Amino acid sequence: QFSEGKYYLQYKDVAKRHLRFGRFSHKGDFGKVLVCGGSYGSMGALKMAATASLRTGSGLVTCLAPKCGMGILQSSLPEAQVLTGEGENELAGSVDSESLSRFDAIGIGPGMGTSQTSSCFLGKFLENYKGPLVIDADGINILAKQPGLLNYLNENVILTPHVKEFERLVGPCQNHKERLDKALEFSMKHGCILILKGAHTAISLPNGKQYFNSTGNKHMATGGSGDVLTGMITSFLGQGYSVENAAVCGVYQHGLAGQIASKNRLRGTIASDIVEAIPRTYILLK
Ligand code: AMP
Ligand code: MG
Repeated sequence: QFSEGKYYLQYKDVAKRHLRFGRFSHKGDFGKVLVCGGSYGSMGALKMAATASLRTGSGLVTCLAPKCGMGILQSSLPEAQVLTGEGENELAGSVDSESLSRFDAIGIGPGMGTSQTSSCFLGKFLENYKGPLVIDADGINILAKQPGLLNYLNENVILTPHVKEFERLVGPCQNHKERLDKALEFSMKHGCILILKGAHTAISLPNGKQYFNSTGNKHMATGGSGDVLTGMITSFLGQGYSVENAAVCGVYQHGLAGQIASKNRLRGTIASDIVEAIPRTYILLK
């Protein structure tokens, strides 16, 4: 703690939040998650999130993508199952609440686009799903365009905007102090967790606390890096972590994975390298 309600995340604060799995654990114990998103030309974002969920330890990962994503996802990520919705090039229509409730956690947004069609999809999705949820990227951009959807936010939801997405949501800010204040205000008002991403990612909780991340580096400033975080947090939620613990472990270990991935590299770390490094972060936290 460095000031009232503000904490700088340390190794020991994170290690103790981890759940332990026993020798006889099965796939179900490690969690069944769904990652939704992708659109024509942006399927990589969804693939990145899904791979990150697998590398974080999910038992079963399913992707929900528009039809054009089937071949791409099945051939680039054989460990994941793929469902396609009604849309050819973007998510369309709706998925009923019974189908959604089969998952322990869901991540939505990466690569989904912000067209009218995908906005409608998100609206119906929020109507039908009340479980643990991460909303990222275009999912957030849609919330910014349709503020009525903010009414669906609740204590099971984690939003992960970067600075630009955050300002689309709350309006322009003069400086980072104002952004941090507004992030906490948003979290308390809507009762959800808000993760404002950046060099020292800030996790704001509805109870007024704010955690600041100590891991990560500039090599993580590259396309797809945020999608990896979405997959990681979704995975922790699916493994049975509380929303707070999933947010904290996800952010901290995402940064650690970035540090491992960029070791001995002066430039050119890519998001897939971060995904590859995720399993090794558990060794550092043991
Ligand atoms: P996105 O913009 O959605 O791809 O997310 C970028 C991710 O990389 C976030 O998790 C950021 O916290 C992380 N990141 C970007 N730049 C830095 C930096 N300079 N230091 C640490 N982490 C960073
Ligand atoms: Mg992003």
